[in-house]
Amino acid sequence: MRIVLLGAPGSGKGTQAKKLMDAHNIPQISTGDLLRAAVKAQSELGQRAKAAMDAGELVADDIVIGMIRERLNEADTQNGFILDGFPRSTAQAAALDDMLVELDIPLQKAVLINVEFGNLIKRLTGRRTCSACGQMYNVYFSPPQADGVCDRCGGTDLAHRADDNEETISNRLTVYQEQTEPLVSYYQQQGKLASVEGEGDLDAVFGRISSALAA
Ligand code: ADP
Ligand code: ZN
Repeated sequence: MRIVLLGAPGSGKGTQAKKLMDAHNIPQISTGDLLRAAVKAQSELGQRAKAAMDAGELVADDIVIGMIRERLNEADTQNGFILDGFPRSTAQAAALDDMLVELDIPLQKAVLINVEFGNLIKRLTGRRTCSACGQMYNVYFSPPQADGVCDRCGGTDLAHRADDNEETISNRLTVYQEQTEPLVSYYQQQGKLASVEGEGDLDAVFGRISSALAA
């Protein structure tokens, strides 16, 4: 299965990508996660990416496209992959198409997770990630059972992402509308688009995605 997950920041792409990864035993490839790891490691690439990320702007194409090219060449992508957060512009989508044609593994579907715009800000400001195991929570919609304690590993550092502050969030949403939303018609024209309702329970959304992928 070779797919792209499309959706605004806060639409639940990362959460659903992790569920798909577990269900299908194929890797989730998230440019956001790769970039955050580079920033944390203070690599040269991370240093170049940091300012754009803090501002909620897109990181330069050469950085993210290079990262994806390297990642797709790793052995674990042979049975498929779930791209999460890439592509984010039509230029990136075209570069991805070229790369996948070259590797002879064309994309099969792009799944759009639809969430009403007004709900995204609360989803983003409420988001927390366990710094020990990566499990994600939302203090409004899906809090851990005990306040501030990870259900999965017992970790007590449920961290707020640096770019999940109101100012950066509003810029990320604008960037999404201007640069990423055109991908909906890009994939529609290729006959690869599937659109699912992203409101409601995580498992219900996962069920809709699974049906869309089986169709
Ligand atoms: P979200 O989808 O919630 O905005 P991500 O983790 O996907 O979160 O991305 C966080 C930030 O990383 C983005 O705001 C952007 O600065 C950068 N980024 C991630 N993926 C890309 C990409 N494909 N192209 C350019 N920048 C990216
Ligand atoms: Zn944890």
